[in-house]
Amino acid sequence: MAVLPIRKFPDPVLREKTLPVEKIDDELHKLIKNMADTMYAAPGVGLAANQVGILKSVVVVDIDEGLMVFLNPEITWYGNETEEGEEGCLSVYPQEIQVMIPRSTKIRFKAKNEKGEPVEFEAEGLLARALQHEVDHIHGILILDRTSPEERRRALKDLAGKTLV
Ligand code: ZN
Repeated sequence: MAVLPIRKFPDPVLREKTLPVEKIDDELHKLIKNMADTMYAAPGVGLAANQVGILKSVVVVDIDEGLMVFLNPEITWYGNETEEGEEGCLSVYPQEIQVMIPRSTKIRFKAKNEKGEPVEFEAEGLLARALQHEVDHIHGILILDRTSPEERRRALKDLAGKTLV
């Protein structure tokens, strides 16, 4: 068990695109285990590998329905309906900074599980939101990029205030 340090905004690694996982080996299993430990310790509902400084397309998610592990995740379809919802991020510290983000309420999601088996499913609600958030991470996109200019200004101001303390 190892809880890894979570990279915080504006760490440039959060802006990097991750690389697809090609080999499933002990090193990858160790990374997955450590990412899960880190997410639960935070606590958070999701974590992408670049948030712990590893440029691999690996995400872990748990929306209180058990641990889900996805390799090379992609969203293959976005529903037309979007909904605004409050989101925080373990890398946009402190966590009490939440911004309103519009997300599709329904998506189609494709990835591999930790055994390398393909998985594909439709997700909605909180799971759809969490998966969109994590897939954003592996493309170097943060919640600050998705929110309105007013919300971004407010969040950055809050962040600056908190860091000065
Ligand atoms: Zn995040």
